[in-house]
Amino acid sequence: MKGAGIVVVGSANVDHVVEIDHRPADGETILGSDLVFTPGGKGANQAVAAGRLGGDVAFVGAVGADGAGELLRTSLLDAGVDIRELAESEAPTGVAIIMLTPDGENSIIVAPGANRHVTPEAVVRGSEVLAAARVVVVQLEIPMETVLAAARLGRHGRFLLNAAPPRELPQELLGACDPLVVNESEAAYLLGNRSTLDGAELASALLGLGARSVVVTMGAEGAYVAERSAVPVHVPALPVLAVDTTGAGDSFVGALAVRLTEGASLPEAAAFAARVAAVAVGRRGAQESYPTLDEVLEPVE
Ligand code: ADP
Repeated sequence: MKGAGIVVVGSANVDHVVEIDHRPADGETILGSDLVFTPGGKGANQAVAAGRLGGDVAFVGAVGADGAGELLRTSLLDAGVDIRELAESEAPTGVAIIMLTPDGENSIIVAPGANRHVTPEAVVRGSEVLAAARVVVVQLEIPMETVLAAARLGRHGRFLLNAAPPRELPQELLGACDPLVVNESEAAYLLGNRSTLDGAELASALLGLGARSVVVTMGAEGAYVAERSAVPVHVPALPVLAVDTTGAGDSFVGALAVRLTEGASLPEAAAFAARVAAVAVGRRGAQESYPTLDEVLEPVE
């Protein structure tokens, strides 16, 4: 199998999205909009984001033998992603239940299903592709031992870990991250919830934990990039009207990987990723909201 520049190892879910005017309180039942099914999951989102931008991407993951699995396959293929390492599991395709409020924010419950079957063996089956990758991209919606296996097999390239949803990270994994990408709350979690730190301090503190480089995304405030022996850099977000922030972080990660495989510096790659994510937050859905290269917004002067 030929090597891809980017290999994403991760989850694939079908998002079940319902719009509500407020989050239900304990014991409360509310009426929402009709349910919409869309392809999602952090791994598949990041692969689709990178593929749509013209990246050479392969995806290692698992879906069930069901319609949801077909929906995900189609979305990945349409974005030009190589899915030869996408396994079919006996478990059902993973599901995310997403409640979307009018401010564009969301609350999410994930039922992992087939994603639990993305095992270290699956990564070993794809080891040829991983060893040849320039950037290996992994998130935490699959078993931790699989994440570690991907870090080991992908060590010849750059290892990008999006530590979401947040979990404690083994030291070996932290030391492989180049970069570790987290949002503000994930950063705070990894640092024991020290809420007094600003973005630059969060990024520096994560470097201090052992990551080789760090990107902390901060929603409308942009992102902070920290590399060893350099002062943290602020990358501004673009001023856009947020319609739906679902999967914004994933479009950022996919775009970051594309620019890194092309040899850009981390701050340059993050500036491009902010332009891509700005388009994604201005449109509904996760994967459907991701731009092609010619739809990416111009940089802010
Ligand atoms: P996550 O979706 O993982 O919580 P963030 O909310 O930090 O991640 O968003 C990731 C990136 O998406 C940000 O760094 C920023 O570039 C862009 N972004 C998110 N929300 C907005 C917004 N309201 N306006 C402009 N850009 C945004």
